[in-house]
Amino acid sequence: MNSIKVSELFYSIQGEGRYMGVPSVFLRTFGCNFTCDGFGMPRGEKTNERHAVDASKYTHYNALPLVTTGCDSYASWDTRFKHLSPRISIDGLAQSIVELLPHKEWRDEHLVITGGEPLLGWQKQFPLLLSHPLMKNLKEITFETNGTQKLKQEFVDYLYEWAEGDPFSTRSYDSITFSVSAKLPASGEKWEDAIVPENIVQYQEVGHVYLKFVVATEDDIKDAERADKEFRDAGFTGNTYIMPVGGVDSVYNLNAKNVALAAMKRGWRYSDRLQVPLFKNEWGT
Ligand code: SF4
Repeated sequence: MNSIKVSELFYSIQGEGRYMGVPSVFLRTFGCNFTCDGFGMPRGEKTNERHAVDASKYTHYNALPLVTTGCDSYASWDTRFKHLSPRISIDGLAQSIVELLPHKEWRDEHLVITGGEPLLGWQKQFPLLLSHPLMKNLKEITFETNGTQKLKQEFVDYLYEWAEGDPFSTRSYDSITFSVSAKLPASGEKWEDAIVPENIVQYQEVGHVYLKFVVATEDDIKDAERADKEFRDAGFTGNTYIMPVGGVDSVYNLNAKNVALAAMKRGWRYSDRLQVPLFKNEWGT
């Protein structure tokens, strides 16, 4: 069956990056190649927070506890929680997506395909979804990715066709965005696994690409500088954003101003996390 394993599907305001403030449908796919257990922890240490959540007690994704360390969407890849992410047929998914839109049709809203790591297992299914008749008037998509997955040639060909193939379309190269949140050592992931410049250069051939680094400390900012240089040396020409770490108010407030100052100093862009002050980073926001 043509289907996607869906962790979350909701309508909200995009809180981060290029489309901050834009009404958006978020499709969170299941599966990731990382765990990012280092986020919010002293360097070199890994969190146990998600392990303490008893998966058997939960029957709905949105009832899960939020975590303050590690990956804030842990249930979108930790297989202990896979029962909370149903496989949904492409037809059912397109209908559910359109149901979320205020006018039951695409107007100014944009589609965010996130994860987990959405480019890991679903590249064959996305063309089926995006070609569905109910998705006809969709004009802008963002793939939120960790940047470790190469695009398969068939998917590249499809994205070209999606952006340019329809003579009546208002879409263009700029309608497809890759928001690349490359993982720095603070995530607990290895540099050589997480920083893959050739992929970003490949994405750049298909759409608009920007880098988004999550930072909490001066060391993180130094790591972001090093990664940014590696990406640019390989040919990346897009924008670089830095963004405060953390999914809850306390962590967020501690470092937001310093992150903004660090961005200004380097000529980078600062990204807020609007979903934190607006919605406390609850599930479905
Ligand atoms: S890459 Fe993203 S989804 Fe995957 S574990 Fe890290 S923060 Fe979570």
